[in-house]
Amino acid sequence: MSASLPFFRYHPDPLASGSIRASTEVCACCNRSTGWIYTATFYTAQATNGHFCPWCIADGSAAERFAGEFMDSYGLDDVSEETLHEVTRHTPGFHAWQDPHWLVHCHDAAAFLGEVGYTELAAHPEALDELRLDLRMGGWHDSARLEYFLTHLGEGATAMLFRCTVCGTHLAYADAS
Ligand SMILES: [Zn+2]
Ligand SMILES: [Zn+2]
Repeated sequence: MSASLPFFRYHPDPLASGSIRASTEVCACCNRSTGWIYTATFYTAQATNGHFCPWCIADGSAAERFAGEFMDSYGLDDVSEETLHEVTRHTPGFHAWQDPHWLVHCHDAAAFLGEVGYTELAAHPEALDELRLDLRMGGWHDSARLEYFLTHLGEGATAMLFRCTVCGTHLAYADAS
């Protein structure tokens, strides 16, 4: 099927991020083969492989039927109840080494763009500066080691890149293997 995917405000290109891929697999929720299947995180106590079609994610039926969430609410305490619901129950999650979480800017959830290395991150200096600051606050006091870590992102550790849905600023957090 060539129907275009539903639009996800907080995860605008789930094909590029690898969370959704072309597949003939049947959706665990609607039992249809739509041509697309979700491959990333889904947290539920029920037995399901979490392989849903993008439509069952977008309309909330997968999260509802399996009483689950695509994303942990960690970090989302600064957003409205509606946004929290939208991110955790209507938005595809993503693959990460550590438990993935969402970033917030301007009191709204940011849009997840994908997992990137240093080169892509350096194209958004504000995101790189912010990440450097976060890591320093997190206890990286050795600047040389910190710069080494940053410039080697993409080899082992990576950065999760987001863009503020309000002001357009890019932001990122580091994901270590
Ligand atoms: Zn479905
Ligand atoms: Zn912003």
